[in-house]
Amino acid sequence: EKVFSGFSKTRNNLSVIDELLLYWNLSDTDKVLDELEEALLVSDFGPKITIKIVENLREDILSGKLKSGSEIKEALKKNVLDLLSNRGSKTEVKLGSRKPAVIMIIGVNGGGKTTSLGKLAYRLKNGGAKILLAAGDTFRAAASDQLEIWAERTGCEIVMAETEKAKASVVLSQAVKRGKQEGYDIVLCDTSGRLHTNYRLMEELIACKKAVAKVVAGAPNEILLVLDGTTGLNMLPQAREFNEVVGVTGLILTKLDGSARGGCVVSVVDELGIPVKFVGVGEGVEDLQPFDAEAFVNAIFT
Ligand code: GDP
Repeated sequence: EKVFSGFSKTRNNLSVIDELLLYWNLSDTDKVLDELEEALLVSDFGPKITIKIVENLREDILSGKLKSGSEIKEALKKNVLDLLSNRGSKTEVKLGSRKPAVIMIIGVNGGGKTTSLGKLAYRLKNGGAKILLAAGDTFRAAASDQLEIWAERTGCEIVMAETEKAKASVVLSQAVKRGKQEGYDIVLCDTSGRLHTNYRLMEELIACKKAVAKVVAGAPNEILLVLDGTTGLNMLPQAREFNEVVGVTGLILTKLDGSARGGCVVSVVDELGIPVKFVGVGEGVEDLQPFDAEAFVNAIFT
């Protein structure tokens, strides 16, 4: 229900094709497909995916496989669903067999990293897990304070840097050690979203990954990249870099409630081959939802 309303702006963009399809006949094909192409591009599906979908449909219309507007609409939805579902992975988060499980949350500042971490803590805690938060964004002074607010809001313990100059990898290592000693199920690690240089940021993330692996073999179990949904396709190069350097296991797309560019979900999944695990649909503790490809398709195409 929430995801449904969360995509209303994207749905509005795409709804222009509904009327055309309602009165569709074969002689309208070019016009309808042009409009469809435009609507997909405006919603940030990206040129590659848009052309793929439109040409698939054209072929099936001209061969007589699709014979009505409603069949075209269903085929359109199926095309998008296939692009998303190929990536499989129904599991929300992989936790492995060793405790604590470690989840690193990465992404550039302002994308919704800390908020998503807080919402995820709330969700996992409600599922019965004992959660420890780790304030690994040691670069921004305010970041730890912000995470501390989320710790209070969700009733979770938090590990923060002991000194101002503490390294992120040290803080995360301490947190995972404490998690191990005190029987936590999951340690949720915040990380920096900006450093003096991008190179330094990537170095730090690699160091964080190594540091937690030293405490618990197999950690981190998940590295979730938070991407700002309002940036649409502009998120792609950034996502590619994080993935190449650090290795991303899942995506969290935020702010889709305010974005008309929801088609970027399809492009990012197709391009990176990484599943979307969650979508952020608001700023409250409950506004993080597991991503469901079918619900997404139904939400954007009604
Ligand atoms: P960080 O710098 O990546 O840690 O980003 P924050 O978690 O501080 O989020 C930046 C802003 O985006 C804050 O004002 C959040 O409340 C807001 N925000 C985060 N996720 C969402 C979301 O899913 N929907 C909306 N509407 N706002 C969000």
